[in-house]
Amino acid sequence: MIIILLGPPGAGKGTIADKINSLVPIPVIATGDILRKAIESGSDLGEKAKSYVVSGKLVPDEYIIKIVEDRITESDCEKGFIFDGFPRTINQAKALDLVFKRLNKDIDQVFYFDISYETIINRLSARRVCTRCGAIYNLKYDPPEKADLCNKCGGKLIQRVDDQEETIKKRIDVYNEETSPLISYYEKMNILTKINADQDLEDRFKILWNRLTEIGVIKNSKLW
Ligand code: ADP
Ligand code: ZN
Repeated sequence: MIIILLGPPGAGKGTIADKINSLVPIPVIATGDILRKAIESGSDLGEKAKSYVVSGKLVPDEYIIKIVEDRITESDCEKGFIFDGFPRTINQAKALDLVFKRLNKDIDQVFYFDISYETIINRLSARRVCTRCGAIYNLKYDPPEKADLCNKCGGKLIQRVDDQEETIKKRIDVYNEETSPLISYYEKMNILTKINADQDLEDRFKILWNRLTEIGVIKNSKLW
């Protein structure tokens, strides 16, 4: 099963990816997470990516495509994977098509999470992330039991540097300009499902799961 989660920052792609991953044993490939880890570790890639990520700009396609190609050929990706935050430009989508052609793989479905501008700002400015395990919280909708500490692992919760209001606005502009053309790109390929992301997680998930069942990727609520 290969699926793509598409939508603006704050649409809840990471949360829904975790939920799918808890039911279906395939990895989530979140290019944003890979980049943040690279930056933290001070690797070559991290050094190159840092200024882009911090200011809310897109990291150049060539780096991203290399990251994705390396990752999907690892052994845990054999039965499929979930892309969160990739592709983000038409160029990346076209490069992915070429890689998949070579590897004889197909995208099963692209889920596009549609969300209002206000909800994005509300969600992102209240978002906190665990520095240890990556769990995501929202101070308003899903607060941790103890202030600033992760329920799952006790790690410290922080606000991502790119979740400050000015950078959020920049990321939304970048999304509208560079990423939103992917909606019609995948619509034309007949593999796009639109989900209203203002609804609860349960409702969003139900639409996604039903669609995967409908196209035969999940059978009797099981993947295999
Ligand atoms: P969000 O979806 O909330 O904006 P991500 O964690 O997906 O956050 O991405 C954070 C940052 O990492 C982006 O603003 C961008 O700088 C970089 N990034 C992530 N994925 C890509 C990608 N596919 N192409 C280019 N840059 C990316
Ligand atoms: Zn944690």
